[in-house]
Amino acid sequence: MKVFINGQFVPQEDAKISVFDHGLLYGDGVFEGIRSYNGKAFRLQEHLDRLWNSAKAIWLQIPMTKQQMAEAIQEALRQNGIRDGYIRVVVTRGVGTLGLDPNRCSNPQVIIIADKISLYPKEYYENGLEIVTVSTLRNHPAALSPRIKSLNYLNNILAKIEGLQAGCIEALMLNHKGEVAECTGDNIFVVRQGRLLTPPTDAGILEGITRAAVIELARADGYQVLEIPLTKHDVYIADECFLTGTAAEVVPVVKVDSRPIGDGKPGPITRHLMARFHQLTQQETQ
Ligand code: PMP
Repeated sequence: MKVFINGQFVPQEDAKISVFDHGLLYGDGVFEGIRSYNGKAFRLQEHLDRLWNSAKAIWLQIPMTKQQMAEAIQEALRQNGIRDGYIRVVVTRGVGTLGLDPNRCSNPQVIIIADKISLYPKEYYENGLEIVTVSTLRNHPAALSPRIKSLNYLNNILAKIEGLQAGCIEALMLNHKGEVAECTGDNIFVVRQGRLLTPPTDAGILEGITRAAVIELARADGYQVLEIPLTKHDVYIADECFLTGTAAEVVPVVKVDSRPIGDGKPGPITRHLMARFHQLTQQETQ
């Protein structure tokens, strides 16, 4: 595998960063996870915009233009012969001292890894997932905004560990107000009486690119979509529930905290949106 680091493509074994990089020492950096279909990055502009916004929020200057980054991403896919894959873009603060001061860091490091995608097992899409609500709250937006896709993912990892300990591969996180926020690496939607409901940005969530695409698709198909605060109760009494994310795409949820959602099977609107999203990924990457 060839990895892009520091402006060039090098063999995986040579793709290394310093132990003094603040990305490692402090999680000081930002990243993106991007899907490719048919050899083309899906919704690349949206991912680049979010990456640049994350960087801006932490006063990190990405040492290339969006156009250069887009070209490097496509080149990473080409060099590795990846058609349906997953791209990880990481921008670290760069090498600094052992102190926190980001001003003492020199060159931000840009890393692009294009790899095969490890998909969720097919049965999750056919039969749906079971998830649990965990005790780890999503970061308070005033402490570290969940809108920043930063290299510090411990909040999500701690929630993921709780979920895994309960036998679930995804876990539902609440915010500091006790409202539903999102899952550890996916956004959440519920369907009630034919309408789609999903937590708003100010519930303290990452503004998912799959979430935005699904909202667009649902509205285009005539469904009402409301971005409103939700409680666990809203999830328990939903007719349907599903998660969205770059890696997962659209995945049905059939049980939350041991309660079956709807009739305990992936619902019709969820199945419709799974198919529509799949179509969209193919259409946009031809
Ligand atoms: N929330 C979190 C915390 C995530 O890490 C992700 C994955 N990037 C998502 C939601 C889904 O976002 P996207 O659809 O852009 O992958």
